[in-house]
Amino acid sequence: MRQTNHQVGMLTEADDWRVRDLSVVWHPCTQMREHPDTLPLVPIARGEGAWLIGHDGRRYLDAVSSWWTNLFGHAEPRIAAAIGAQAMQLEQVMLAGFTHAPAVELAERLLAIAPRQSDRAPLAKVFYADNGSAGVEVALKMAFHWFHNRGEHRRTRFIALENGYHGETLGALAVGDIPLYRRVYAPLLAEALFAPSPDAYLARPGESAADCAARAADALAALLERHAGEVCAVIVEPRVQCAGGMRMHHPDYLARVRELCDASGAFLIADEIAVGFGRTGTLFASESSGVMPDLLCLSKGLTGGFLPLAAVLATQAIYDGFLDDSRERAFLHSHSYTGNPLACAAALASLQVFRDDDILTRNRATAAAMTALAEPLSQHRHVADVRQAGMMLAFELTEGGNKATPFPAASRIGLKAYRAALARGVVLRPLGDVLYWMPPYCVDAEQLQLLADVTRAAIDEATA
Ligand code: PMP
Repeated sequence: MRQTNHQVGMLTEADDWRVRDLSVVWHPCTQMREHPDTLPLVPIARGEGAWLIGHDGRRYLDAVSSWWTNLFGHAEPRIAAAIGAQAMQLEQVMLAGFTHAPAVELAERLLAIAPRQSDRAPLAKVFYADNGSAGVEVALKMAFHWFHNRGEHRRTRFIALENGYHGETLGALAVGDIPLYRRVYAPLLAEALFAPSPDAYLARPGESAADCAARAADALAALLERHAGEVCAVIVEPRVQCAGGMRMHHPDYLARVRELCDASGAFLIADEIAVGFGRTGTLFASESSGVMPDLLCLSKGLTGGFLPLAAVLATQAIYDGFLDDSRERAFLHSHSYTGNPLACAAALASLQVFRDDDILTRNRATAAAMTALAEPLSQHRHVADVRQAGMMLAFELTEGGNKATPFPAASRIGLKAYRAALARGVVLRPLGDVLYWMPPYCVDAEQLQLLADVTRAAIDEATA
């Protein structure tokens, strides 16, 4: 029998990990002063399917897929085995001057499944990096450098969307628009241009999501015109602005962005780091708009949630723009762990699970069950909006359910809901006052029911 509440001196095993952690570890995305009184710190011993299991034996339903990385459940045995086998074979080799089967095979597979557009040459090359932000840096630098190599030295600007998020490194942060992450570092950031978000939550009275998307696209068109010849790329999170509060937009928007990029000569960068790999219903979110980007950024679910890895898929035309006798015209960007064999092996195993388990079909049924369970919650007094894109579903909490009256930030409704849900065994980490469901694809009917019940209890308790 596993001991679940092992005593270490006067402390339980879980308490002991908490104390030791707080004496040495500095956590991400956290005001450390809030630990452990305002914000609980939960030592996790193991994972199993959709569950995270603490050292005290308590189980937590991972409704946010561990920051959107996990696809098929924790410790998925097929991916774990693939990593183990690869580790016994080759754990790492630099990808400059060397290659290995997992990197080649993964590139082949990714290019075969990437979004296509009948009137465009397909994505043709894969550049690896080792986390999402690094993947965004690669795409931004590639776009800029491509124009530089052609002597188009005026093309130095990026257009990003208001309320967008692309990561925390300085380049990625420069094209992000979430004040909480950006504001302090603003003096360090390259100046990007921001276009209005197509976010359907911002629709004016009488406007449909499609109208709202059209209005945002018109504004982007005007911005591109004002900066004609200056923009190297437009970067977009297709369908869902995730860190921006799971704000969703109509697929028409990306189709218009594609046209506008073509007309202005700028590249389209699709950041599918969060929405890729089946989250929105299709394998890639760009597919729902019938769009192929020039640069596609992938990470998070790429390895099924096991290991950090990013892949940036590029067109042949972009690749060709770097071929030359000079090293300076080459794309020299490098990370020590670029294309790590273990991570590539995990990604290959993850793509195999998609096929073997017919995940996209299964997800359609799960998404429909999520719709049905969320419906009664849309009637809740403090729920202003329930929105869904496939396996992502979000609840916007406001005072009285009125869009015009968000809760005052100081009331920390989201944090209260988080604590209430955690106490009931569900991880519902909010984005401000937005609670969302983004569970691993193995989530079953019973777990979804628990999720719905706990969401209601958490909203009730937080807004009481
Ligand atoms: N782009 C998007 C759309 C993201 O959601 C994230 C992470 N939340 C990133 C980029 C950055 O990825 P990472 O955290 O791996 O750096």
